[in-house]
Amino acid sequence: MTHTCHADGCDKAVPPKYLMCGKHWAMVPLTQQREIWRHYRPGQEVDKRPSADYLRVMKVAIDQVARAEGQQGSLL
Ligand SMILES: [Zn+2]
Repeated sequence: MTHTCHADGCDKAVPPKYLMCGKHWAMVPLTQQREIWRHYRPGQEVDKRPSADYLRVMKVAIDQVARAEGQQGSLL
């Protein structure tokens, strides 16, 4: 099974421990990136049991990327 980037509409394959591909991860504000790693537990991608906190900060990051992409789109 392939693990893909969690950003909306992105299906780029990334190693399971990473939430997003490099391009989308770069759109996540640094403070939020730190939150993700703070709640990341080594092995959670293996047992598929990330904490509720991780899921929460993950959703925020995905939302931030979606908004960043939407803003870029409106400039085109
Ligand atoms: Zn991506």
